[in-house]
Amino acid sequence: MNAPVHAAMDQFAVDAGELLVGGQRLRLLAERVGQTPFYAYDRALLRERVAALRQALPRGVKLHYAMKANPFAPLVSFMAGFVDGIDVASAGELQVALNAGAPVAEISFAGPGKKAAELRQAVAAGVLVNVESMREVELLAGIAHELGASPRVAVRVNPDFELKGSGMKMGGGPKQFGVDVEQVPALLRRIGELGLSFEGFHLFAGSQNLRAESICEAQQKSYELALRLAESAPVPVRFLNLGGGFGIPYFPGEKRLDLAPISANLHALSERAQRDLPQASLVIELGRYLVGEAGIYVARVIDRKVSRGHVFLVTDGGLHHHLSASGNFGQVVRKNYPVAIGNRMEATELERASVVGPLCTPLDLLADRMDLPVAQEGDLVVVFQSGAYGASASPQAFLGHPACAEVLV
Ligand SMILES: *Cc1c(COP(=O)(O)O)cnc(C)c1O
Repeated sequence: MNAPVHAAMDQFAVDAGELLVGGQRLRLLAERVGQTPFYAYDRALLRERVAALRQALPRGVKLHYAMKANPFAPLVSFMAGFVDGIDVASAGELQVALNAGAPVAEISFAGPGKKAAELRQAVAAGVLVNVESMREVELLAGIAHELGASPRVAVRVNPDFELKGSGMKMGGGPKQFGVDVEQVPALLRRIGELGLSFEGFHLFAGSQNLRAESICEAQQKSYELALRLAESAPVPVRFLNLGGGFGIPYFPGEKRLDLAPISANLHALSERAQRDLPQASLVIELGRYLVGEAGIYVARVIDRKVSRGHVFLVTDGGLHHHLSASGNFGQVVRKNYPVAIGNRMEATELERASVVGPLCTPLDLLADRMDLPVAQEGDLVVVFQSGAYGASASPQAFLGHPACAEVLV
């Protein structure tokens, strides 16, 4: 059997052996940016991804962007123009979402350990707070009193099931996220007593799932659970956020998610919701699925070293800008992201090489023994699938190298 290969990165065009990003040749783009390393995000690809989802989703289902995946302000502003809402996970992200012009009615704020000051900002802004503990409910009541405002709340539920086959599980069992389902009725009573404005439920089972049937199962279970909990709610449910978890192919052997079963499932749930929860909008919140495939990370080869027969392409970029691609952001077994030499896309002469960064640690690895075109100093190494959990998820201060640039093309 042949070794597993990466999914084709054919979302980007190639012209005369050179990768095009947003229609621009990579080498010229690097000149325009004025430095390497940089991240580039392709506007047309961002738009196409949202359009494809809109095609697949029932009309009534709202599509939110979970901006934790990529908080680059120009990108968030761009996305705010064609998704229905933005999900934020800190007061810092809240400011970016507000500046991006996202409608306040469709911004929601989730995350454990929200500080009192953050909750005040959220209430003052008028966004939906997905409460994750009784403490947050009590704090919100105090803030409501002080500000003379009526906080909008949804309850983030820690369900009694897990998202099977998920890269990162964020619900089921003991978790710091959300309120255990068994404690939700008491929390709902307290929300009613305190006169907070209850709007619905938020369930997020996990992340990076490439199995459509597992996603469908989690959505169905989330729906059933919310329906049961709605019986204890002080007022009818207006928002039911079923989470997301849609994955993208990063590693050899992984295939793009099949949207068809998810589409069918959401159509069925959406019809049921019209009967069961007539005042509710269904919401799905996606991070990496919206932005991950539209972004690349580009670093320049500084040195080509051969050590005991093994080729190392030493670049000006690495783990400090792209922790995920180095394998140090939640991977159990390190695997290579799809990597290419962006100015030698059609080269036929390949050699086995490792792409490393300038940091003094063996963890600073962007590609481990991959078959790549024979590269020289000055060539541009491209790491695909880099639009999510890149710059903002990396320890840029580590070792004092320059920061990377980010551009929307
Ligand atoms: C991280 C997170 C997301 C986004 O996850 P992706 O895998 O990027 O889609 C969405 N919702 C919540 C609550 C999250 O914590």
